[in-house]
Amino acid sequence: MLPKPSNQLASPENGDPLFLEPFWIQNAASSAMLVAGWHRMSYTFTNQSLISRLLEDHIRKLHTTVGNAVTQGRFIVFGAGSTQLLNAAVHALSPDNSSAPAKVVASFPFYTVYQLQTDFFRSVNFQFQGDASLWKNKSDSTLNFIEFVTSPNNPDGQLKKAVLQGPHVKTIHDHAYYWPHFTAIPAPADEDLMIFTLSKLTGHAGTRLGWALIKDEALYQRMSTYVKMNILGVSKDTQLRALKLLKVALEGSGKEIFEFGYTAMKERWERLSNALSESKRFSIQEIAPQYCTFFKTVRGPSPAYAWFKCEREEDKECYTVLKEAGIIGREGNLYGAETSYVRLSLLKSQDDFDALLHQINKLVAQEDGTKSII
Ligand code: PMP
Repeated sequence: MLPKPSNQLASPENGDPLFLEPFWIQNAASSAMLVAGWHRMSYTFTNQSLISRLLEDHIRKLHTTVGNAVTQGRFIVFGAGSTQLLNAAVHALSPDNSSAPAKVVASFPFYTVYQLQTDFFRSVNFQFQGDASLWKNKSDSTLNFIEFVTSPNNPDGQLKKAVLQGPHVKTIHDHAYYWPHFTAIPAPADEDLMIFTLSKLTGHAGTRLGWALIKDEALYQRMSTYVKMNILGVSKDTQLRALKLLKVALEGSGKEIFEFGYTAMKERWERLSNALSESKRFSIQEIAPQYCTFFKTVRGPSPAYAWFKCEREEDKECYTVLKEAGIIGREGNLYGAETSYVRLSLLKSQDDFDALLHQINKLVAQEDGTKSII
């Protein structure tokens, strides 16, 4: 008999970043690629490396241009999306021969895949143990902890810091959304292990490229070995395409894609906030304006997701309330939160976002039964 498929695993994430599609349509010619049949047939590049030196240089240059991460003195590992690197990091940070598995934690609400993946691989070396805050008093003990810190956070867009500190605490900083499209950049991230992804930078989730910036050489070796054992290096076609995309992103002052992305996401946030401004039944998270070193000004929120709350007791199955109104989100309990929360993705195409807003306006208009539908 075939094993029963798990719904959760079948679709761990649905945030396709199509908001950047118009940028790539504008840059269709310069970002296009034609690859001859003989090109890049080997496993390795000419220097025997599994990663393209040119792509690595472009990634470092982009971080310097944006000012969102320190790359000096960092090793770099590529993965098939950052999804692969999340587990590569957990593997590499777990002690090999400890009597107890390392406790993998994240502060709630958290990105579901950390748990799904850690549970799925079912290793003797690590185990998902839930909310980081619950372990705060134990983190200076001899227990081994690995904390995922997602900044900005998926689902609520907040810039987060590690909750646990101590001699046996290791931290994975997931900076998938630490780009000016989604957040102010107060300072370059300078942590020991930082993970980024092309998916949320250029929107090319399907190209499957993530990278880790790593301070410690031994950790870098362990993560490289994981990728080698798993896929023997990220697809050369992926690396070639990513290079082409980053070249376009770096054209001119290297700001255009971020200006485009920020304007699009800010407008969506403002439209959604306006739609909900008079509602007593529904709310979304607040994100404080902050000085951004990239735009050199204080800027307002432009998050990837709305962390939507149904405020009324009778609406505590918020996912169902929205579904009945023709809006599909993701249930709050998938993120370790209550079912009165739903995550709504704002990364959609413009048409899909307009349709979402239309449904939200309709729902809010029903609230007092008097307002017309905008
Ligand atoms: N980290 C976070 C916080 C995410 O939201 C996502 C994708 N939604 C990922 C990692 C994985 O991205 P990818 O595998 O496409 O690089």
